[in-house]
Amino acid sequence: MSTTAVANVPQVADFVLSPELIQFRDFVRGYAQQHLGGAAAYDAEVKFPRDAVQAAAQLGLLRTTVAKEHGGSAMGNLASCVMLEEINAVCVSTGVTISVHNSLVNSLLGKWCNDAQKRRWFPKLVTGEWLGAYCLSEAFSGSDAAALRCEAKRQGDHYVMNGAKLWITTGSEAQLFVVFARTGPDRIKGISAFVVEKSWPGVGVGKKERKLGLRGSPTTEIVLENVVVPADCLVAQEGQGFTIALDTLDGGRLGIASQSLGIARAAIDLIKAHLAAQLDAKGRPTATQPDQWQLADLAADLDAYRFLVWRAAILRDQGVRCSTEAAMAKSCASRLANRAARAAVSILGPVGASGQNAAERLLRDARITEIYEGATDIQRLVIARGLLAPS
Ligand SMILES: Cc1cc2nc3c(=O)[nH]c(=O)nc-3n(C[C@H](O)[C@H](O)[C@H](O)COP(=O)(O)OP(=O)(O)OC[C@H]3O[C@@H](n4cnc5c(N)ncnc54)[C@H](O)[C@@H]3O)c2cc1C
Repeated sequence: MSTTAVANVPQVADFVLSPELIQFRDFVRGYAQQHLGGAAAYDAEVKFPRDAVQAAAQLGLLRTTVAKEHGGSAMGNLASCVMLEEINAVCVSTGVTISVHNSLVNSLLGKWCNDAQKRRWFPKLVTGEWLGAYCLSEAFSGSDAAALRCEAKRQGDHYVMNGAKLWITTGSEAQLFVVFARTGPDRIKGISAFVVEKSWPGVGVGKKERKLGLRGSPTTEIVLENVVVPADCLVAQEGQGFTIALDTLDGGRLGIASQSLGIARAAIDLIKAHLAAQLDAKGRPTATQPDQWQLADLAADLDAYRFLVWRAAILRDQGVRCSTEAAMAKSCASRLANRAARAAVSILGPVGASGQNAAERLLRDARITEIYEGATDIQRLVIARGLLAPS
């Protein structure tokens, strides 16, 4: 390796978005301003943001991870992350609906389904006529996904599926479920992935969870009773389900990391506006030093963790495995969202805690980013495993 070789070419580390992505970010920011004004009402009334999601569909925001030949825009993970930060800075319930649809359902179908399956389901998914949901968790299987018990027994040209999935985002609104079920006794190789349509006999929406935050996003049980699943709805091969689930979660975690950036940014904006309004008689800022330090630390972390998210997204767009990088992005960004929302509530004082502005809602929403798509402790395990793996 010669030092001249390095010196003779321009050195690039891309810390700025391309002009096209900046334009797209501004376009999504416009969508958020125009269509997500009901965020507080969705939370207060526990109401699904149907109109906002449909408006997003019409603008093409439900097809960013789908190939062009199947009606998508093939924008990929980096663009999706940029989009999700903008949406989640205003409305997390709309944000998680779009994140799950794009990163846990469309991405999975695009990567693992055959052409006939893609032609069957993408036309409805890319237009938002159908929303998708990702059904992995069960009552006794969350962090330990391989403990799942839902089973699919092969009978001739179909499988018979029985079980119950818990905590399913968009559960009551989705028309298409990706369901992970047991097709054999092996803990890992006995898991397979299926596409299940809501209209099929035996598919039911069970109890709806009452949640701390993300209240506009319906989280429900999905009950599967003797559901006849045609064999051509198996995704990839029997026994590949666990690999598919984990690979898909790498992308999903980027969506939740971006959601966390959006929450953190919204909380920092509240703090900035509050401190900037504290002026003495001569118009000079009077914010206390500790409050300024908090603001400074949060703002610096936001910029740093955004780069973690973009790095993992760029790797995934390049087809490089990014489990460690995605876990770093999610664990850092989601913890920042919690710190920023907590700081907003305490700096704004009673107004912050009262629900008179978004701080209290952000604090409730932020908590969930550290739980779903892998709790923070699980992200730390994934990172440590990645670092300790033989290279
Ligand atoms: C709002 C919401 C939406 C969700 N949406 C979906 C969805 O769409 N689809 C879906 O399939 N699931 C969904 N989930 C489920 C979610 O992914 C799980 O809740 C999550 O993976 C944690 O699993 P668990 O609830 O079983 O908690 P547990 O596994 O019981 O974990 C609880 C805590 O124990 C600790 N812990 C557990 N195991 C370990 C370990 N091995 N090492 C160290 N610490 C550990 C962690 O700190 C963790 O926070 C959703 C959950 C919520 C709250």
